[in-house]
Amino acid sequence: MKNRLLLLALLAASTKGQVVPFSCGVGHATSEQLQELSALTADGSSIIASNSNEVITVPVCSYIFNGRHNDDEITDQMLQDQLDYLNQGFTAASCCDVSDSWCNPVDCSVETNIQFAWAVVTPKGTLAEGHTTPNIQDEGACSFRLFRPLWIRTNSVNGFFMKRLLRKGGPNVLNIYWSNPLGSIAYATFPTSSKRKHDGVVINPAAVTGGDLPGYGRGSTLIHEVGHWLGLLHTFQGSCESSDGIDDTPMEYAPFRGCGELPGYPLDRDSCPNNPGTDPVHNFMDYSGDLCWYKFTAGQMAVMRASWFKYRAINTIVLQEGQPSEAITLVARGRQLYSLITSNAIRCTASATEGDIGLYLQWRHEPRYIAFPFINSCSTHGLPDQSCTVRRPRQQEVLYIGVKSSFVPVTDLTVTCVAV
Ligand SMILES: [Zn+2]
Repeated sequence: MKNRLLLLALLAASTKGQVVPFSCGVGHATSEQLQELSALTADGSSIIASNSNEVITVPVCSYIFNGRHNDDEITDQMLQDQLDYLNQGFTAASCCDVSDSWCNPVDCSVETNIQFAWAVVTPKGTLAEGHTTPNIQDEGACSFRLFRPLWIRTNSVNGFFMKRLLRKGGPNVLNIYWSNPLGSIAYATFPTSSKRKHDGVVINPAAVTGGDLPGYGRGSTLIHEVGHWLGLLHTFQGSCESSDGIDDTPMEYAPFRGCGELPGYPLDRDSCPNNPGTDPVHNFMDYSGDLCWYKFTAGQMAVMRASWFKYRAINTIVLQEGQPSEAITLVARGRQLYSLITSNAIRCTASATEGDIGLYLQWRHEPRYIAFPFINSCSTHGLPDQSCTVRRPRQQEVLYIGVKSSFVPVTDLTVTCVAV
């Protein structure tokens, strides 16, 4: 019955040009992703995350596609407004609109200390690592307009080629593709996704700040997707049986729709009455939509920050010749980007008390754990205590360090590097 009502509401919405209930292309998390998430909150990363004073700046690249009859649907000002709105969504200033009768402005969002700025592209078209700019008008701001009628709408096949050809930067760079995805308003990849070339957010250009998709003109859709990009699941992920991996988001049986205007979806819905709290209908990670969303919780903030430091950040380590680095935090089966400042060759050693270790070092490119080394990379595999040395090529600074465990899980992993 509920589904029929929703369908009727959808039909009414499409004929009247009213709000279409939200649909995100990110499905339920796999058991592997849930494990990653519980490890993220359980292990030392949560300690890093709790140090919430350090401001994280995420570099952003944006791609807009035009066809013959599709001239500049999104202006630069709209893109800048969207970035500003994204930034506001990650601060404690994100709140409901007091003109809405349901708004309780003391119950706003949290300060995440996660901010977003345009990545900077050099005249050669490469990304200037570590450089960002707040204004899209600034020289080199990573925003592209391309004549690509095929990418105005995408499905999983042409969307794959679009990302493969365009994506810029390492896992720290948020690539946003303004393309209308088949079957949803937007979707994003998780930080644990193994396919780096797919990484990013694909979003209907009409859902940009100031866009003309009814009910989505504020630009919160991007905030929802960036929540996924930083490791958050939907609040209804676990129904009433298990949570979304975060303690302070109440359990929810199924997605909430609309913002109180749809039959069967009152704002005080409590779909898991045996569990504490009413449904988190104002949370960015529910399905309520642009007009209702304004909130992240402290638990979500901790997961996003931990995800950043564990999977996305580029960490800078200054190496003195002959002086080993401090222990580098890595997880087996993960890989991490490190910027190692030195002009020498680098030898890294991975040790563990138990398990088999595959260690991989490669300048700038994605580690693939291949069995034999190429120039600019090295790999080794075997029992604990594995070392390999890689010579630093000119003008390369960012080294990927990857550790994998194939057969026996690694315990007490320690990775150190030294300039030799
Ligand atoms: Zn979603």
